[in-house]
Amino acid sequence: MPEPTAKPLPPQTPEWAPFFEAAARGVLGVPRCQNCGAFRFPPRPVCPECLATNFAWESVSGRGEVWSYVVMHQVYHPAFAAEVPYAVVLVRLVEGPKIVSRLLDVAPGEIRIGMPVIATFVLVGGGIYLPMFRLANPV
Ligand SMILES: [Zn+2]
Repeated sequence: MPEPTAKPLPPQTPEWAPFFEAAARGVLGVPRCQNCGAFRFPPRPVCPECLATNFAWESVSGRGEVWSYVVMHQVYHPAFAAEVPYAVVLVRLVEGPKIVSRLLDVAPGEIRIGMPVIATFVLVGGGIYLPMFRLANPV
């Protein structure tokens, strides 16, 4: 049994399996429409651009920029109590898709929109790696 104060882990569903398999290899994987080439993230059964259903997972660079962020002051889960206030960032990857994550080693008050970031992969428990981000040199 997990500790009651352990952080919740992302559910391991079949549609997300390639994402977590890639993350365990240190790669950021994103589904891409095989009809029009649009990335579709998070994974969904139908392309938002052309409605095609065929897709394949592709590796992307892991580079991007802070597109938006929020600073969490409320403790929504006891496992995060020691971390408030902490930021949740929305990173826009250079390939276009946006991903919700954390920005490591940057205080919430120091985060700025447009900061260049690069993915790093953090073992969060249960053998699961999550992509998080660090500051990077400008692209
Ligand atoms: Zn498409």
